[in-house]
Amino acid sequence: MSRVTDPSVRAEAVRAEAVVDLAAVRHNVDVLRRASPGAELMAVLKADGYGHGAVEVAGAALRAGASWLGVCTLDEAAALRAAGITAPLLSWLHLPGEDFGPAVSSDVDLAVSSREHLAAVLAGARAAGRPARLHLKADTGLSRNGAPAAQWPDLLDAAAKAAADGEAEVVAVWSHLANADTPDHPSLDVQAARLTAAWTAARERGLDPIRHLANSAATMSRPDLHFDLVRPGIAVYGLDPFDRPVAQSPLVPAMTLRARVVLAKRVPAGEGVSYGHAWTTPRETTLALLPVGYADGVTRALNRHGRMKVLLGGALRPVVGRVCMDQVVVDCGDDEVRVGDEAVLFGPGTDGAPTAQDWADELGTIHYEVVTGVHLRRVTRVHTGAGGEEPRW
Ligand SMILES: *Cc1c(COP(=O)(O)O)cnc(C)c1O
Repeated sequence: MSRVTDPSVRAEAVRAEAVVDLAAVRHNVDVLRRASPGAELMAVLKADGYGHGAVEVAGAALRAGASWLGVCTLDEAAALRAAGITAPLLSWLHLPGEDFGPAVSSDVDLAVSSREHLAAVLAGARAAGRPARLHLKADTGLSRNGAPAAQWPDLLDAAAKAAADGEAEVVAVWSHLANADTPDHPSLDVQAARLTAAWTAARERGLDPIRHLANSAATMSRPDLHFDLVRPGIAVYGLDPFDRPVAQSPLVPAMTLRARVVLAKRVPAGEGVSYGHAWTTPRETTLALLPVGYADGVTRALNRHGRMKVLLGGALRPVVGRVCMDQVVVDCGDDEVRVGDEAVLFGPGTDGAPTAQDWADELGTIHYEVVTGVHLRRVTRVHTGAGGEEPRW
């Protein structure tokens, strides 16, 4: 009766893998390049490339025609420079008291949002003995980072003086959209007009900066907002900014999260499964154990309604009972399942496996949070599609 075959087969020593397909990254950058022919493209790589690996994704994106890279922190910028990446690189969120000298020395462009921020960057430029490259950030309506309109003339005056003194080069005036995923939202036009006014004020001071505003959604839907440079992030990783199903999106999701079965066994009818016995076997069945749980980023809420599924042995199968810290249980019915079989938790969706978007829908969040939420201390990240390391299984 038992369908469990050869339980002595040992699984690989890898618990779970986030496999990142760099060919998909190149494809996505190509799609974005075609959508923005008049602008340069900055691949946004903050948070370690949205969990995909900033260095590897940078290489793929540059190969596919990106000419700029963007990150949040100085550490993220330093990691790219340490990896030998010399492309233009912008870092945009800084801490009070940060030392900008090393960033200026290593040719990292710096976003600046206030006069105090500018003063710290100029101190770094003096320490580095070369001009800082500035992207002056205007708050055009997101009310997050960026200088508000009332402080803009003052910031421009200070930046123009620094430029005249040879301490800085004003490379860009830029901003970030609040509602880009709703392309006809009236705030987009308001923000674009405010950016243009901020840029015009810079030109009136004799500066000649470029302008940039568009994230993924605006890159794909608002060519009138591309200006000189577009800054897509999520679309580089293949996740559709408009949440279109995979079949309707020109993008290919790059990340697959998978794990191997570590135990498979027949269990009689009427047995409670996992903590709290939230699920009971309705019949004798084969249960497969996967060595991933909420400590890996397989968040517990995924199965709070009993709807989580994995692709295992060619079929979508339900995760049963509660997600634990380190493990989940999959109901395989009477189908054959072996220790070592691969289960896909989410992937591109082309083979019927769940997608990051499916997880986001279940969790009431966005796919950005799903891919950045894989815990890479325990999940092994592997890159394919670059002539790089092949997956271990
Ligand atoms: C994250 C980010 C982007 C990219 O946004 P996506 O929606 O991922 O394309 C662009 N610009 C800034 C300032 C960002 O913080």
